[in-house]
Amino acid sequence: MAKVIDSKIPAGPVPEKWKEYKAHQRLVNPKNKLKLDIIVVGTGLAGASAAASLAEMGFNVYNFCIQDSPRRAHSIAAQGGINAAKCYQNDGDSVYRLFYDTVKGGDYRAREANVYRLAEVSNNIIDQCVAQGVPFAREYGGMLANRSFGGAQVSRTFYAKGQTGQQLLLGAYSSLSCQVKAGKVKLFTRYEMEDVVVVDGRARGIIAKNLTTGKLERFSANAVVIATGGYGNTYFLSTNAMGCNCTAAVQCYRKGAMFANPSYVQIHPTCIPVHGDKQSKLTLMSESLRNDGRIWVPKKLEDAKALQAGTKQGWEIPEEDRDYYLERRYPAFGNLVPRDVASRAAKERCDKGFGVNNTGLAVFLDFSESINRLGLDVIMQRYGNLFEMYEEITDVFPGDVANEINGVKYYKPMMIYPAIHYTMGGIWVDYELQTSIPGLFAIGECNFSDHGANRLGASALMQGLADGYFVLPYTIQNYLADQSIWGKIGTDGKEFDEAEKAVNDEQDRLLNIKGKRSVDSIHKELGHIMWEYVGMGRTAEGLKTGLKKIQELQKEFDTNLFVPGTKEGLNVELDKAIHLRDFFTMGQLVAFDALSRNESCGGHFREEYQTEEGEAKRDDENYFYVGCWEYKGKGNEPELNKEPLEYEAIKVQTRNYKN
Ligand SMILES: Cc1cc2nc3c(=O)[nH]c(=O)nc-3n(C[C@H](O)[C@H](O)[C@H](O)COP(=O)(O)OP(=O)(O)OC[C@H]3O[C@@H](n4cnc5c(N)ncnc54)[C@H](O)[C@@H]3O)c2cc1C
Repeated sequence: MAKVIDSKIPAGPVPEKWKEYKAHQRLVNPKNKLKLDIIVVGTGLAGASAAASLAEMGFNVYNFCIQDSPRRAHSIAAQGGINAAKCYQNDGDSVYRLFYDTVKGGDYRAREANVYRLAEVSNNIIDQCVAQGVPFAREYGGMLANRSFGGAQVSRTFYAKGQTGQQLLLGAYSSLSCQVKAGKVKLFTRYEMEDVVVVDGRARGIIAKNLTTGKLERFSANAVVIATGGYGNTYFLSTNAMGCNCTAAVQCYRKGAMFANPSYVQIHPTCIPVHGDKQSKLTLMSESLRNDGRIWVPKKLEDAKALQAGTKQGWEIPEEDRDYYLERRYPAFGNLVPRDVASRAAKERCDKGFGVNNTGLAVFLDFSESINRLGLDVIMQRYGNLFEMYEEITDVFPGDVANEINGVKYYKPMMIYPAIHYTMGGIWVDYELQTSIPGLFAIGECNFSDHGANRLGASALMQGLADGYFVLPYTIQNYLADQSIWGKIGTDGKEFDEAEKAVNDEQDRLLNIKGKRSVDSIHKELGHIMWEYVGMGRTAEGLKTGLKKIQELQKEFDTNLFVPGTKEGLNVELDKAIHLRDFFTMGQLVAFDALSRNESCGGHFREEYQTEEGEAKRDDENYFYVGCWEYKGKGNEPELNKEPLEYEAIKVQTRNYKN
């Protein structure tokens, strides 16, 4: 039976909720904090900031990651920046405006109260990071510089060249290292959480695998926090780091944590196009490039055909024959429309035959106008490392002059196409970031909380650090206030025995299949199914076919997989097989959710539900809720529960980026 979902959102008007919450919540007595242990799984921006903050507040923290150093978490890949409502540009920005843009950008499917809190704490994040020494870009006069990202008409994105994630992570890592030295954080690198242990209905520990020795180990604590990132790699090809996986989140789901809005997957418009079937990863070209780059395809089909055949180059096409389709369709936001809108517009042009490379699946991102206006030096200061990265991969340098027509210089444009990038769905959490298992919390990309059906650029880092530095350290105390009188538990109870045995048995099962196919070959096939049937454009029929194909492939995985080696010592193939097992669960969840949501919103585009102009058509009457999926056992369909959305500050309306 569907559950009643209590999101624990405090009463009162939206701008007051977080203040009210903080004023009335229970806090842990400082002396008791010393007795309380917290497991934090993940050292990306969310995990590292949470671990450092919780330790600083006095709790004992056990912090886990699969890489050999916290500094190698996927968060270092973040290029473009982090949002905050500082209004340094005096361009009319405010907490309310950031809140409004985020809710609108998410196509009115986010939780209003959470988003307001996010916008409120955004400014603290910048102060915190500056205090840590994060080298944000500055104006000549010393003021922190800003640029614009999609879905906003103000400049509120703080950045450190094209390496913002890395610099922010170094800041969080330095705080974390301080706590490691102080003995408050114990770091477990090259450890993978394989299961969460639930005792008397509460999360009380984890089973983790030492990835170097292969040994399974048990850890107990008063609360468990997962900060393990998103599930984009379900699609095989994505912009995510190859190690990104959803095993921890899916195990929590199997143990009773609900999974929210899995169909909300973000497809980023500016990635280097797929160039063959031997690729294992896609590369993002940061959205920041849309500040100065203009996106176009030819106006004439014969030009597009010549580009596809390689008999013509982009720079040979004069200005009047170029279709800057985003500027044409969305005059108010132009190239800075949100990602879902820009991605669909690129697909629409390519589907109509206007693609610009040999596969017909690419559009141009062109810097000719901005280089002519500002000079190459300025453009290189802003995007130098991105230009170099593009050249390294494609052998084309976007700052090279290629042609001159009527006295206008034309530079070599980048080619880009949409690709899987981020997942807005995730483990369901309440206002306190607690999952439906008491004592289990989820933060950062692995929860669903703040982005609705589409995340705006530069808002993931904002959310991860808001959760880690400023939200979880308060909200977790409400739960721990009780725990301080309960004391520690050992790791020899039957729940730990059972969990460890289950993990062990699963490893044996996978090793003993002894079939013929490698993990990657099956994963690649899963990715094709996901992209084709559960990707950018979805239909009920396609989703049903997709689900059937995923289930058939899962049978192949269960009967014809080959994992070399043993479970003792390092076995990367075995680790990947476990990840793939969970991508199968995840892929089906995405498809089930997409099939149940008979509307289009944000990144979830059902082709049956679109306006005459091809925009997403929401159905607020029937789908104004968070879809919360509950695990019902292997082989059974999950059950859908609904958390109704309540908006009091923002009027729910159709998104408009045209005027
Ligand atoms: C190319 C690229 C560029 C981006 N640029 C931007 C940007 O400019 N601005 C922006 O706001 N966002 C950006 N994003 C999104 C943003 O980087 C991520 O959403 C964010 O970094 C996620 O942080 P996280 O801490 O939640 O997870 P992650 O950084 O993914 O960290 C996950 C952590 O969990 C650990 N882990 C995972 N599974 C396990 C397990 N089972 N056991 C133990 N540990 C585990 C990992 O070791 C890692 O430490 C970008 C994303 C990509 C792919």
